[in-house]
Amino acid sequence: MTKVYLSLGSNMGDRQGYLQRAVEALKQLTDTEVEAVSSYYETAAWGLTDQADFLNLTLALETQLPAESLLSACQAIEKDLDRVRHEHWGPRTVDIDILLYGQEIWETEHLIVPHPFMTQRAFVLVPLLEIAKDLVEPQTGQTYENYLSQLDTNDVHKFVTSD
Ligand code: AMP
Repeated sequence: MTKVYLSLGSNMGDRQGYLQRAVEALKQLTDTEVEAVSSYYETAAWGLTDQADFLNLTLALETQLPAESLLSACQAIEKDLDRVRHEHWGPRTVDIDILLYGQEIWETEHLIVPHPFMTQRAFVLVPLLEIAKDLVEPQTGQTYENYLSQLDTNDVHKFVTSD
C-alpha cells in the first residue's frame, strides 16, 4: 500500500456538492482506502484571479493502484463530474491533483510528484497540514509546515459546510 495525498478544488456551481461527490467516488476506488479528509477551505482563485473563489480540501488515502492508474482514475472522476475546461487555470467543477505518491519522485509526461506547485500554494498546504502535520518534502527534507510559514494564508478561510 502507498500513502497518497490528493488536493481537490471546485469553483463552479455547487462547489461543496461537487467536492462531496468526488470524495465519495474516491472512496469507491478499487484497492484504495480513504483515510482522512480535511475540512473545506474557501480560497481566492490562483493564477487567473478574475473568477469565483475555490473550495479546496485535501485527502489522504492508502492505495495499491500504481501512480499512473490512480491519475487516470482521478481524471475519470473529474470527467464524470462534468468538468468543463475552457482555459488553463480557469473555472472547473472539480480538479483533483496528486500531491504526493508515497515518497516517490516522478516526472513523466502525465505525472509530476511531488506536485510542482504545492509548496507555493497556501490553499494546498493549509488543508494538508490539518491531516498530516509532520509531513516532509521528499526531495528537500523540509517540513511542509516550514514551507507554509513562508506563505500568505490570509486568503484561505475554513468553510462551514451546509449538510
Ligand atoms: P490541471 O489543469 O491542473 O488539471 O492539469 C491536468 C494535467 O496535469 C494532466 O494532463 C495531468 O497529466 C497533468 N499532471 C501532472 N502532474 C500531475 C499531478 N501530480 N496531479 C494531477 N495531474 C498532473
